[in-house]
Amino acid sequence: MAQSVPASLKPFNTFGIEATCNELLSFNDEQAIQSWLRDSQPDIDSLFILGGGSNLLLLDHIDLTFIQPNILGIAYQEKGASDEVLVTAGAGVNWHELVLDTLSNGYSGLENLSLIPGNVGAAPIQNIGAYGVELKDCFVTLRAVELTSGEVKEFSAEDCQFGYRDSIFKNSLKGRYVITQVTLRLSKKLQPHIDYAPLKQILADKTEITAPIISQAVIAIRRSKLPDPAKLGNAGSFFKNPVITVEQYLTLQNAFPEMVAYQIDNEHYKLAAGWLIEQAGLKGYRQGDAGVHEKQALVLVNYGRATGQDILNIAKEVRDKVLELFGVQLEPEVWIIGEQKIF
Ligand SMILES: Cc1cc2nc3c(=O)[nH]c(=O)nc-3n(C[C@H](O)[C@H](O)[C@H](O)COP(=O)(O)OP(=O)(O)OC[C@H]3O[C@@H](n4cnc5c(N)ncnc54)[C@H](O)[C@@H]3O)c2cc1C
Repeated sequence: MAQSVPASLKPFNTFGIEATCNELLSFNDEQAIQSWLRDSQPDIDSLFILGGGSNLLLLDHIDLTFIQPNILGIAYQEKGASDEVLVTAGAGVNWHELVLDTLSNGYSGLENLSLIPGNVGAAPIQNIGAYGVELKDCFVTLRAVELTSGEVKEFSAEDCQFGYRDSIFKNSLKGRYVITQVTLRLSKKLQPHIDYAPLKQILADKTEITAPIISQAVIAIRRSKLPDPAKLGNAGSFFKNPVITVEQYLTLQNAFPEMVAYQIDNEHYKLAAGWLIEQAGLKGYRQGDAGVHEKQALVLVNYGRATGQDILNIAKEVRDKVLELFGVQLEPEVWIIGEQKIF
């Protein structure tokens, strides 16, 4: 176990926000987590599990101990003569490195999820998704250490209760388990998911579609649309796309015929939060070093020296303006960690 009191959490969050915590502990395997829990018997409400810090907004000093499972390793298991292959990766493996590793081994399944920042251990938390594919589509099982008992538990897809940017780990089991490894189902034979319009368009002139080609197309689209956190601090989509009832949708559609929406089932529609924010005139809006990205309104950015509170203030303005104009409540997708609670 590596232990440190970080002077700054700036290198540990893609927003690039200055913040501190009580202690940062890093673990290289499951047993190290278990022995630390046994020896120190921590109050689990004093802990925060840190992955790659790409979905966090940190506020000033955080009165918590951060624990980071830096468990590495990728292992494959082929399933006899079938096309199915299982991949098991440690929680600390960088997600995109896992995607590239599966592709270089000739396996498909993760190509649409290329270039999503963060680590494998966090992927099930919000059931990461992009370009028509979600983690749950290839998820098999995960291992996690329960923070109260130190016991290891395996979770099936059903146990995880995956939903849109959601799982049991954001609800009844929030902050209760450290995920240590994840197993996913891949295939030797590509089943392409290329219905998403920009993807379809970029692939239209290709004579052959392979998983690496889909991955490259996804990477190109993402690079053209989303700011690179290494250059401009951000945590991806700040808000979730709101889900509304058919009745709400029909009322809004009447008032805003050009509104971007997708039907999810017979009773619900999902709205494009980025469109709502853009219509509210907030695309490119800036207050000091905190702002709404000029190309992608769903992304809040740190132009350099913004504090967590500066970003939060912008988020609040965005939320209030959208509520006032459309009567739709935006919920953050990003985890806001610290004292202030406005959402
Ligand atoms: C530019 C950009 C683009 C993005 N695009 C997408 C996208 O297309 N789709 C998408 O779904 N997300 C996207 N995101 C959000 C982010 O990449 C994902 O949420 C990612 O899974 C977060 O991983 P992380 O390791 O950085 O987790 P962190 O930000 O460190 O943590 C996120 C949450 O997971 C918990 N957690 C982390 N690791 C573990 C663990 N091992 N066990 C238990 N809990 C844990 C944390 O406590 C926290 O609650 C984007 C972010 C950025 C910056």
